[in-house]
Amino acid sequence: MKQPETASETGRRRRSKDVLTYLLKLGELTLKGNNRQMFEQALKRNALALLRGTGASVKTARGRFFVYCGEDAREQVEDALSRLFGIAGWALAQVVEKTPEAVVAACAEAAANLPSEIQTFKIEARRTDKSFPLDSYAIRREGGSAALAVSPRLKVDVHAPQALISVEIREKAYVYPASHAGLRGLPVGTAGRGLALLSGGIDSPVACFLMASRGLRLDALYFHAYPYTSEEARQKVIRLARIVGRYTMGMRLFVLSFTEIQRRIQENAPERWLTVLSRMAMMECAEALGRARGASCLITGESLSQVASQTVKNIDCVQSAVTLPVLRPLIGMDKEAIIRLAERIGTYETSILPYGDCCAVFSPAHPVLRGDRTEAARLYAGLNLAEPIKTALMRTEQET
Ligand code: ATP
Ligand code: MG
Repeated sequence: MKQPETASETGRRRRSKDVLTYLLKLGELTLKGNNRQMFEQALKRNALALLRGTGASVKTARGRFFVYCGEDAREQVEDALSRLFGIAGWALAQVVEKTPEAVVAACAEAAANLPSEIQTFKIEARRTDKSFPLDSYAIRREGGSAALAVSPRLKVDVHAPQALISVEIREKAYVYPASHAGLRGLPVGTAGRGLALLSGGIDSPVACFLMASRGLRLDALYFHAYPYTSEEARQKVIRLARIVGRYTMGMRLFVLSFTEIQRRIQENAPERWLTVLSRMAMMECAEALGRARGASCLITGESLSQVASQTVKNIDCVQSAVTLPVLRPLIGMDKEAIIRLAERIGTYETSILPYGDCCAVFSPAHPVLRGDRTEAARLYAGLNLAEPIKTALMRTEQET
C-alpha cells in the first residue's frame, strides 16, 4: 500500500504516535468524472499545505481522505480542516478491529459517551467491504440494540436524531459519533487564477472567499489614495488579505497608489461621473496587473443596486473598461447575508474599522445612476489616464 504523505518538512512516515484518525468526506468533487483525479490531487496538495507544521499525514483511499496526527496536534489539525475547500465534512474516527463484536461494542461505547442532554440517536452504516459478515442493515440493528442496552435513557429516532453514530466498514472499521461540516466547494487552484479588487469594505473579502470556494486561486489588488486614505486603511486591507488568505491557500496583495489617477479624474470629469470613472480606471489597472499575473478573470464585491455605482447600467459602464470577465459573486446577495458570511469567515470586525476608502472620499452628492457606456467611454478617453496608470502599475508594491 502507498505510504501516506506527511505535512511535516522532514518528510517522516506515519509513526505510532499518530493516534488520531480523521475521515474527510468529499463534497462536490465526487460528481466529477474524468478529471476527478485532478481535483483529488489538488485537495491533497492543499490539505498538506494547510497541515504543514502539524506533523499530520494524509492518505487517500477509494474516494476517502484520511488525516493522521498526534494528540498534541489535534487543535491545529481541526483548525486546518475547517479552512479546507473541497470537503463536505470531517470526523474524528475510532479505528476498531474489523469484527462484528468490536464494531457493535464501539457503537455501544460511542452511545455511552454521548453528552447527557442527547436523548435520541441513530446509527448510520456503510459497508464497502462486502466480506464483512454484517450488512449495513444488520450493523444498524445490532449496533443500535447494543447502544440501547448500555444507555437506556436513549431512544432511536431515524428521522430527526439529535446524534448520529456512523460506522464505515472499509479496509478498516471506523466508528465516529460526530461529524463537522466542511466548507464544501472545490479545491483552490482547480479553476485557474483570478485577481480580486480588495477594498477595506465588508463586501470584497467575502467575494474573495466565495470565488476561492469555487476553486480560483487569488491575488488581490488594493487601490490606495494617500493622503486621502490613511496608512491605517492600508494596514486594514493587509489584515483582511491575511484573514482571507487563511482560506484561499494564501493570497498575494498588491497595493497600487491611486492618488494621481484619482486627482486627474477629480479635476477633469463631471462630478456626477466621478465614481463610475474611477471604477473604470481601477478596472483598467486591474486588468493589466491581472494579465501579467496570469489571471483569467477579475473579481469584485459588487452587489446589484447596493450603491449608486452598482446599478446595471453603471456596472455595464465599468465592465466596458476591460475585456477580462468580471466575476461578482455577491451580485444577488443582500447586505445581511453578506455580513453573516463576513462574520463567519472572520473579516467583519476588521472591515468595519472606521478608515474610509478612497471612493468614499470622492463620492459625488448626486451620482449618475444610469450611465450610458458610450458616454462613459467618451468621458474616460478624455481623461488621458494612460500615463498615470502606467506609472502607478510600475510602482505597484506587493504587501503579502
Ligand atoms: P466593499 O465593501 O468591498 O468596499 P462596497 O459595497 O463598499 O464594497 P464599492 O465601494 O462600490 O462597494 O466598491 C465596489 C467594489 O469595487 C468593491 O467590492 C471592490 O471589489 C472594488 N473596490 C472599490 N474600492 C476599491 C479599492 N480602494 N481598492 C480595491 N478595490 C476596490
Ligand atoms: Mg468599498
